[in-house]
Amino acid sequence: MANNRSGLRCMMCGTHDSAANPVIKVLEGLNLCTDCITYIDNARDSQLKKPAKSKAKESAHEIPKPKEIKDFLDKYVIGQEEAKKYLSVAVYNHYKRINQAEDDDVDIEKSNIILVGPTGTGKTLLAKTIARLLDVPFTIVDATVLTEAGYVGEDIESLLTRLLQTCDYDVEKAERGIVFIDEIDKIARKSDNPSITRDVSGEGVQQGLLKLLEGSVVLVPPNGGRKHPEQKMIAVNTKNILFICGGAFDGIERKIASRLNTHVVGYGHDESTRKKKRENLMKYVLPMDLKSFGLIPEIIGRLPILTSLDPLDRDALRRILTEPKNSIIGQYKKLFELDGVKLEFTEDALDLIVDKAIEYKLGARGLRSIVETIMVDSMFEIPSKKEKEFKVDAKYVNEQLERAHFVKTAIDD
Ligand code: ADP
Repeated sequence: MANNRSGLRCMMCGTHDSAANPVIKVLEGLNLCTDCITYIDNARDSQLKKPAKSKAKESAHEIPKPKEIKDFLDKYVIGQEEAKKYLSVAVYNHYKRINQAEDDDVDIEKSNIILVGPTGTGKTLLAKTIARLLDVPFTIVDATVLTEAGYVGEDIESLLTRLLQTCDYDVEKAERGIVFIDEIDKIARKSDNPSITRDVSGEGVQQGLLKLLEGSVVLVPPNGGRKHPEQKMIAVNTKNILFICGGAFDGIERKIASRLNTHVVGYGHDESTRKKKRENLMKYVLPMDLKSFGLIPEIIGRLPILTSLDPLDRDALRRILTEPKNSIIGQYKKLFELDGVKLEFTEDALDLIVDKAIEYKLGARGLRSIVETIMVDSMFEIPSKKEKEFKVDAKYVNEQLERAHFVKTAIDD
C-alpha cells in the first residue's frame, strides 16, 4: 500500500518511510520513524517522573477472577448470562496478559470483544460496569462520528484523546484502559463489493480502526479534533487497551437465517427446531455473518470474542425496574426519601409500567421515561405537603399516563 520514499523502514514498528511519517537514520544501523521517536520521547519523560516499577505488575494479584467479575455484573445487569460469562473471561484474560512477565516465551494475544444485540439491551451498561469494577480509564465512543482523515468528522485517533482525558492525560494509565466503541455496525461497508466508489464512513474508518485494535503506537491530538502539524502529539501504545465494540446489527438475523436454513434443510425439515431458531437468531451469530453484514475480515479477526445479547422479555424488563443496584424504582425511592417520604409501588403498578414499555416498543430505555412521566406531578407537589408516604398503584399510573398524553407521544416518536 505505502510507497517507500527512501527505502528505509522503521526498525521498531516496521513502517515504511513516507511524507506523513518520515523514517530517520538515528544511528548507523538504527532507523526509526517519527511516530516511534515521539513515543520513546514521551516514555522517557514519564519514566523519569515516576518510579520505574510497573503498576501493572504491582496490581497483578488484585484482578478479580471471572466468577467475581460475573457476580459484580449480576448486581447491575439483568439476564444476558452468556454475554456476561464471555466478558468476564475475556477481561480476566486480558489483564492476565498485561501482567505477563516480559520474558515469557508464550505470547498471549489480545482479545478484543464484540457484542451483538438489539439496542437498549445492556451492551453499554455491561462495558461501563466492568470499567467500574476494574477502576481503569474507560470511555464510550460512537463509531458514527469517526471518519477517515481528511473528511468532516473526527479522526479515529480522537477516541484515544477521550480516553486520555478521563485519566488526566496519564499515558501509562490510559494504555491499560477500556474503550467501548458503540454502533460499530454503522461503519459497515454498504455493499459487499469493495470495488464500489470510495466509502468514506465505512471501509476507510474500519481500516483506521484496525490499526488501533491490533495494537500499535498512535499519535493522538491532545485536544481531539483534527491533527495539526503545530500541535504536540501524545504517543499512545494501544497494545494493552481493551476494545469492546457493540452494535445492533439490524437485519443480521436475515443473514443468519439464510445460513442456518441451508444447514437445516440439509438435515431434513424439523419445523419446531426451525421455529425455535427463528425466535432468537442473534444467538447463532458467527464471524461470517458480520462479514456478510459489511465488516471487513481484518476487523473481525481483531475482535475474536463474539457474543450476543438477548432481546429483553417481559420478565427481564420487570426485573430491571427494581432489581439492579441503581434500579430506576430504587432511584425514585431515594429521591423521595431525601424529602423524608416513603415511596411505594404496588405490584400491579410495576406490571403496568412494563406493559406500557412493551406496548410502545420502548424497551429498557423507555422504562425510565414512563416512570418519569408518572412521577412528575408527585415530585412537584409532595415536597410541599405533609404526607410522609406515597403509594403508586395501577390506577395512578393510568391516570398519569393519560394526563401526559403518553400514548400519543409514544406513537408519534
Ligand atoms: P445498548 O448499549 O445495548 O443500546 P444500554 O446498555 O445503553 O443499551 O441500555 C440502556 C439502558 O437500559 C441502561 O442504562 C439501563 O438502564 C437499561 N438496561 C438495558 N439493558 C439492561 C439490562 N440487561 N439490565 C439492566 N438494565 C438494563
